[in-house]
Amino acid sequence: MAVQPEPETSQTLPASMRAMVLDWPGEPLKYKTVPVPEPAPGQVLIKVSACGVCRTDLHILDGELDKPKLPLIMGHEIVGTVVSTGPNVTMVKKGDIVGVPWLGYTCGRCSYCLKGKENLCENAAFTGYTLDGGYAEYTVADERYCFKLSGEVTPATAPLLCAGLIGYRSYSMIGEHVEKLGIYGFGAAAHILIQVAVFEGKKVYAFTRKGDVEAQAFARSLGAVWAGDSSQPAPQPLDAAIIFAPVGALVPKALQDVDKGGVVVCGGIHMSDIPAFPYRILWEERVLRSVANLTRGDGARFLPLAAQVPVQTEVQLYPLLQANEALEDLRQGRVRGAAVLVP
Ligand SMILES: [Zn+2]
Ligand SMILES: [Zn+2]
Repeated sequence: MAVQPEPETSQTLPASMRAMVLDWPGEPLKYKTVPVPEPAPGQVLIKVSACGVCRTDLHILDGELDKPKLPLIMGHEIVGTVVSTGPNVTMVKKGDIVGVPWLGYTCGRCSYCLKGKENLCENAAFTGYTLDGGYAEYTVADERYCFKLSGEVTPATAPLLCAGLIGYRSYSMIGEHVEKLGIYGFGAAAHILIQVAVFEGKKVYAFTRKGDVEAQAFARSLGAVWAGDSSQPAPQPLDAAIIFAPVGALVPKALQDVDKGGVVVCGGIHMSDIPAFPYRILWEERVLRSVANLTRGDGARFLPLAAQVPVQTEVQLYPLLQANEALEDLRQGRVRGAAVLVP
């Protein structure tokens, strides 16, 4: 199942491709034949071998994120092979196997970029949201935001590109001296991150939807020292917590679970409203923070670490045509690990 370098030459590239297209939020994706995109200066054309389905895609589909490109090809956990390059491409060459993440472009000039916070860039563009992404046979990407992948690359690599990266960025925000780490919501990001955290000697407490004994067993199989319903209190005070479930009510819950000085990180791009809570559960220097997007530096740190652990993702594969089914399975919590589309 490994992704092989493409022997294909640009002469044999087709003019059209199949893609799952979002015409309007709230409507299912439509299977369409569209032109294969032309790489602009600095861009490469990638033959997609797999593309992960992320919870963010559900938020775009549901119209919960502002101003998507429309019509849009979603998908920001892309692995594939470069089959042609546009003008002025210098770092990536034909035949390279690359990963394309959510961060698709930054300006390099705004105050955030100049401070090294390109994840907060004022003029950023995002793969599968404001740029077309990987729910298609081909996609183009700016070479500067592609990660070159080595070793064995398979469809199971795709979830590392967002679930892995955003999970890792969240993890990098939990502070020093964390021994007991709570993870709220045990989906794609959590199943990757727990492997990194256990590798680094942390004790992981996994909180799932009420009664989801399957997810709890899955968490234990990946090394969680405790797994239970998110309605249950933590069995002992935690040093830090990461919330991946898009459920605002988990914020005061996690604040109550963490010890004095503990950090609660919200890892998602969208969350339901956070209910009011008494100041005393934030007091004693507990910290509440969010994580937005990623930097290329996160990828440079995380991808080698994932190989070292080594992180094994669990994926449910779907043909491209079944993107709507994959999204619905994700919505209903029927995906163990991560859903991945294979064109
Ligand atoms: Zn994502
Ligand atoms: Zn910028």
